[in-house]
Amino acid sequence: MKSKIKAFMDLVKQRNQFEPEFLQAVEEVAETVIPYIVNNEIYYGKNILLRMVEPERVLMFRVPWIDDSGEIVVNRGFRIEMNSAIGPYKGGLRFHPTVNLSILKFLAFEQVFKNALTTLPMGGGKGGADFDPKGKSDGEIMRFCQSFMSELFRHIGPNTDIPAGDIGVGGREIGYLFGMYKKLRNEFTGVLTGKGMSWGGSLIRPEATGYGTVYFAQSMLETRNDTLKGKVVTVSGSGNVAQYACEKAMQLGAKVVTLSDSGGYIYDKDGIDESKLAFVMKLKNNKRGRISEYVEKYPNAKYIAGERPWGVKCDVAMPCATQNEVNLSDAKKLLANGCFVISEGANMPSEPDAVHAFQAAKILYAPGKASNAGGVATSGLEMSQNSLRIVWTREEVDERLQRIMANIHKNCIKYGKQDDGYVDYVTGANIAGFVKVADAMLAQGVV
Ligand code: NDP
Repeated sequence: MKSKIKAFMDLVKQRNQFEPEFLQAVEEVAETVIPYIVNNEIYYGKNILLRMVEPERVLMFRVPWIDDSGEIVVNRGFRIEMNSAIGPYKGGLRFHPTVNLSILKFLAFEQVFKNALTTLPMGGGKGGADFDPKGKSDGEIMRFCQSFMSELFRHIGPNTDIPAGDIGVGGREIGYLFGMYKKLRNEFTGVLTGKGMSWGGSLIRPEATGYGTVYFAQSMLETRNDTLKGKVVTVSGSGNVAQYACEKAMQLGAKVVTLSDSGGYIYDKDGIDESKLAFVMKLKNNKRGRISEYVEKYPNAKYIAGERPWGVKCDVAMPCATQNEVNLSDAKKLLANGCFVISEGANMPSEPDAVHAFQAAKILYAPGKASNAGGVATSGLEMSQNSLRIVWTREEVDERLQRIMANIHKNCIKYGKQDDGYVDYVTGANIAGFVKVADAMLAQGVV
């Protein structure tokens, strides 16, 4: 088996030499899916995985715009249309200076599996730009978004490709992108998700990724007859996903003690309560400030510059910032401190060695493609509401979100339960996602 996986990876490496994040994501899938393919005749010898690692289409384009000082700035825009076997391409846009082909291809590849897991008819895609929104004025953000959309609009559409938000792309950016799309196309359609409530958005969409990550942790705990009540939780990040993971964990009786950003993390041993979280939301979403300002308002908390929160003692950890933010040494610290649940809100936040350490310790470990699928699932619900031209209530959307997360959990168990009863959620998520996409690809022929 090892030689089959190696031969496959050698080929993928040869074709994608300078794309470490993409290769990392593919290898994790290959390790779990190739053994399954070998043991299941209908998938064997059809090169399905080889087809899946090749994007259906890659778009790269110039994004020129003018900053507040009058200077012309040029960024690079991307859209990876990865796989449309089970539905139109769907996946977020990331605006961050580190964005490149490798990062977007890893995200698009993971998105294919994640979207299949939701059971909704959505293919996978991802896009973005190497644009840094930090420190930019509203006018600069708007001009950048308009320039970005002035190229992207010809490649997307409500039945073709439906982008959403990701790092650096929230409600404000989706608004500017949607406004430009509508002007260029002269049509009002559900082409983007994460829209504002008065113009086609869905209730619970902003909350969905963070809430879903917590619902998934809850389902994992239930397998050990346990709950989140009284658990100490560490969360990284302080953006969209982190904020709502913190809110839902709190509502379910857990004590969240950390949040972070790229500058460092805050540790509040008393726990983050509703009013402290409201402060963080205002600080991050309106003032666009730094998490270090938390300790100015709440001096009992500590700010640790330049570090991540994984050395803090906890029962549950939720990495909600970015890829590869948990390395082997972090994993060892988490395990030594008694952490026994990891529910990833971010995409691929744990390095492969860290994942192997969690699995060897047989703790409850959920990979992002399963535990953070609530965001895209609710985007799927936004698309449904747009098509039907109706608006579901908060309770209706939340109830559907909970049902979808419980279903994803059930599917992970179906394909990931080992002989000794341990659930390998990585294997479970990869095979469940693969089966759905592979069946559709087989039915549709070699295209
Ligand atoms: P936001 O832009 O709202 O927040 C990102 C947070 O992560 C910020 O606190 C940011 O800090 C921090 N961060 C970003 N890059 C780094 C870095 N290199 N090192 C340390 N901290 C960093 O993004 P989201 O909350 O939307 O996304 C967070 C993660 O969740 C990403 O991995 C994303 O792909 C994933 N995700 C998001 C979904 C969504 O619906 N939004 C859906 C599914 C997954 P700073 O402000 O200093 O940059």
